[in-house]
Amino acid sequence: MITKPRGSNFIRQFGGPGEGTQIVCYKFWQLVVAGGCPYRCAYCFLQTVPWFRFRPDELYGLVYTNVDDMVEEIKKWLADPIPKMMIAGELQDGLVFDSAYKKTSGKALTHHIIPLFAAQKRHRLIFLTKSTQIQHALELKPTPQVVFSWSVNAEEVGATWEHGAPLPSERFAAAKKMKRAGWPIRFRLDPMIPYPNWKKGYGEAIRRINALSPEMVTLGSLRATSYNGLRNASKANGRDESIFDYLTEEKDPSGFKYRLPFAKQVEMFRFAVGQLKTNIKPALCKEDRALWKALGMHFDGCHCLLGRNDSIVKERHAEMRQPKTADRPAGLGKSLPIMA
Ligand code: SF4
Repeated sequence: MITKPRGSNFIRQFGGPGEGTQIVCYKFWQLVVAGGCPYRCAYCFLQTVPWFRFRPDELYGLVYTNVDDMVEEIKKWLADPIPKMMIAGELQDGLVFDSAYKKTSGKALTHHIIPLFAAQKRHRLIFLTKSTQIQHALELKPTPQVVFSWSVNAEEVGATWEHGAPLPSERFAAAKKMKRAGWPIRFRLDPMIPYPNWKKGYGEAIRRINALSPEMVTLGSLRATSYNGLRNASKANGRDESIFDYLTEEKDPSGFKYRLPFAKQVEMFRFAVGQLKTNIKPALCKEDRALWKALGMHFDGCHCLLGRNDSIVKERHAEMRQPKTADRPAGLGKSLPIMA
């Protein structure tokens, strides 16, 4: 693990595919709590992020030493009167460095930042993780302002392609402990893979999700910005690139990512939504409007947003009601059923 001060801002808003896109939700706020990740998921997009391509040693863990600067930035962000959600875990695993921060700064990362969110009622923070390092967070008093979200999968997918990470069953066990301690929890069932017998594996994962009654479940499936780029990086890093056999050379209608065949993605997400208890809210992340429409789902918040009243939700509704004609993919844009 590398330690050094962060030279740029700790907080930024994801720019994603940019204005005029039909990718529905992407403008979330992220807190860059660390860099990289000690786990070795075959599909991890960090492997193709230019920063890590040129600094391969930092891909496996970069902990920042200027935590005071991070704390000051968070305090300024929290002073904004418009309620917002912030995610820790987009360019890194959000929780796996908790103990590393305790070693390097004397305090776990959770202990540095959770009290800042707990001291106010406007904004929320969400940790996205595959880690089971909940011991430091459990020392704190639970607060509705901080959510813990586990990225989970069918057990077989976790065992095959998420090397080094705790098995999904272990993540569910950690989530159960946090829920019992009074913390809000969420899940991302992502990336769904149409491996043989996927209905059995995902049926079991969803049974575990239902038993824990999370606030929300965000669905995702295998994707990549470059068709061969991520596969090649995975292979070069000694990971099992066979997962990319499921990817097609077809991009989503926005041209944002290579995906599973559209019909298969719809089939898997329909299956998942159909198995989820009706009181658990399903959502999609960085998906094309065509998919929301095919699933009959309404965009009123997502994993990294507060809900239908989040300012980013309102902003995207307004933007997508008036897409730029030149940027609009053929066949989309006349009616906006998902933006109701
Ligand atoms: S846990 Fe997340 S950040 Fe870590 S290797 Fe897997 S996909 Fe990448």
